[in-house]
Amino acid sequence: MLYENYEQVVANVKKACERSGRNFQDITIIAVSKTKPLSDVEELLSHGVMEFGENKVQEMVDKYEHVSKPVHWHLIGHLQTNKVKYIVDKACLIHSVDSVHLAKEIEKEAAKKGVVAKVLLEVNIAQEETKFGIREDEVYALIDAIKDMPHVHVMGLMTIAPFVENPEENRVYFRKMHQLSLDIKSKCIDNIDMSVLSMGMTNDYEIAVEEGATMIRVGTAIFGARNYNI
Ligand SMILES: *Cc1c(COP(=O)(O)O)cnc(C)c1O
Repeated sequence: MLYENYEQVVANVKKACERSGRNFQDITIIAVSKTKPLSDVEELLSHGVMEFGENKVQEMVDKYEHVSKPVHWHLIGHLQTNKVKYIVDKACLIHSVDSVHLAKEIEKEAAKKGVVAKVLLEVNIAQEETKFGIREDEVYALIDAIKDMPHVHVMGLMTIAPFVENPEENRVYFRKMHQLSLDIKSKCIDNIDMSVLSMGMTNDYEIAVEEGATMIRVGTAIFGARNYNI
């Protein structure tokens, strides 16, 4: 059942790739398993799905410790500095770096554990009050602060687009993100990769793919609606 949902997302991504002349191989689908039981993760894993996203540190660590085979865990939610130590060697990619303060903490904890943490910079491209992430015009200052950190490696950018009825409304933001990542890439800054562009969720992932996403984060379309009251 869950795998059928996943395959439907795959089919939709393939169609979006065809429409926009992109390669399906260039897109990573992250199954966002937040609030869902480990058995759901196991079900997808039994079909070979390897990329999972969590937005809470404790939940990611619990699933990391109990899953039957190692998978790739993406930390996609806001990260508090005091929790960095729990996930710095467990997350394959931290999608939500949005301050020098947080980057410094990741550097410190990654150095302690002898790892290089891969991260994305979270950009609040629509400048929504309620959202985490830096403004577009703050991105170079953050890059400047991180580029000399030996245990933090910037792989690209991430954004959470506004919640809209019509996903077409987010196309402009996805386009802006793509352009921003190209601008940064063109500067060839040491230690700064721009190969990853994480954008698009259940509502708007097809548009995000058309506009250049290399990672999409899909929860509801795969696992069904979340219940936060249990
Ligand atoms: C929950 C979440 C998603 C997935 O949302 P859906 O609309 O269920 O696909 C993607 N990204 C982030 C950062 C999230 O917190």
